[in-house]
Amino acid sequence: MTTALRETAPSVRDVSVFGDAIAYFNEAADLLELDGGMRRILTHPSRQIIFSIPFQRDSGEFEVYTGYRVQYNFARGPAKGGIRYHPGVTLDEVTALAFWMTWKCAVVDLPFGGGKGGVTCDPATLSSNELERITRRYAAELVEVVGPDKDVPAPDVNTTPQVMAWFMDTYSMHVRQNMPGVVTGKPLEIGGSRGRVEATGRGVTICALDEMAEMGLRPEEATIAIQGFGNVGRYAAKLFKDRGCKVVGISDVTGAYYNEQGINVYGAMEHTSKFGTLEGFKGGDRITNTELLTSPCDVLVPAALEKVFTAEIASKVQAKLLVEGANGPTTPEADRIFREKGIVVIPDIMANAGGVTVSYFEWAQDRMGYFWKEAEVNEKLEDFLLSNLRAIRAIANSRHATLRTAAYTLAIDRVVKASLLRGIYA
Ligand code: GLU
Repeated sequence: MTTALRETAPSVRDVSVFGDAIAYFNEAADLLELDGGMRRILTHPSRQIIFSIPFQRDSGEFEVYTGYRVQYNFARGPAKGGIRYHPGVTLDEVTALAFWMTWKCAVVDLPFGGGKGGVTCDPATLSSNELERITRRYAAELVEVVGPDKDVPAPDVNTTPQVMAWFMDTYSMHVRQNMPGVVTGKPLEIGGSRGRVEATGRGVTICALDEMAEMGLRPEEATIAIQGFGNVGRYAAKLFKDRGCKVVGISDVTGAYYNEQGINVYGAMEHTSKFGTLEGFKGGDRITNTELLTSPCDVLVPAALEKVFTAEIASKVQAKLLVEGANGPTTPEADRIFREKGIVVIPDIMANAGGVTVSYFEWAQDRMGYFWKEAEVNEKLEDFLLSNLRAIRAIANSRHATLRTAAYTLAIDRVVKASLLRGIYA
């Protein structure tokens, strides 16, 4: 099974994702004139855990999957970051994602470090009972190293509030007390936060609209294309539409659709709730994934996986603004091309930070045992995102840097200050 899963991973993913991530870090570290020792520390993960997840198929057969948790950095607080269930999950990918979580939490000033987890599996081939068994075993393997003050997982690609509920229950059973604060992204009934489900998509739109205003692009005149229609893409599409923008392109793993007149976003959401995917959606012309990424639009939102923009695709992108709903969608070569072409990029660690920001609110609410109204969550979310987006913009302007380098600069500076205050325990 494991071999088969590896074979399904696209070859571009074989090039180190963590290597690309480090390239972005180095640019900002140069700007900050960060010394070699601190660079060495910050480019090494604190802890990487790999383990086997044996489980029983509904058919009675036993299988073994591989689970990972990387706790990248703890300088600003407990590790924080999602758990991904996907055939392409590798240690390299999880490490890169944990690295990005470190800067993402720092850039929006959350009291967390960075972490990420994953299981190399294809949830489309698993029943709900099989997913539950895998999740419980995954959680049980991590009992000693996760917890509200140690490491707080959350949803990521293909993991849902239900998966978080199973994780929380397994952990709580092991430690013999109810521990909602061990994970975020839980269902509302068991300590979830209002607004968490839409939070990443909401954050994408908040950042995009603020930057559009900066560029003089009015929402009613703007066209948007979104790659991915999962938890990030679908809510971003809905919120763009609600703000008067025209969503002209959408896609998921089954295909992409373009409609110059505007996609019926609510219709697409209904379609996916009914059929699981966009397959068979009639609301636009069927196009390829590459055509979607290079389609005529003002704002382009990659909201799927890493390494979507190769140099070749980047050179054909027509959008004026790129808002990275996904983690790591842009390779460093593509980033250079965007810079040359004058395409503004709101980097992943800022653009998709809405999810982890509301995760922070959930963690805080769980610890207080007092839950906020949705309007309060959304208002605080906007405040966290906009104040830091504007701080990044100010750095970008004063240092003549891109928003990405500015975001890393702000984040690295915050992590370095925390590390130096605590001191390196050697
Ligand atoms: N998986 C999301 C991310 O990449 C959310 C993480 C969290 O809420 O901890 O940012």
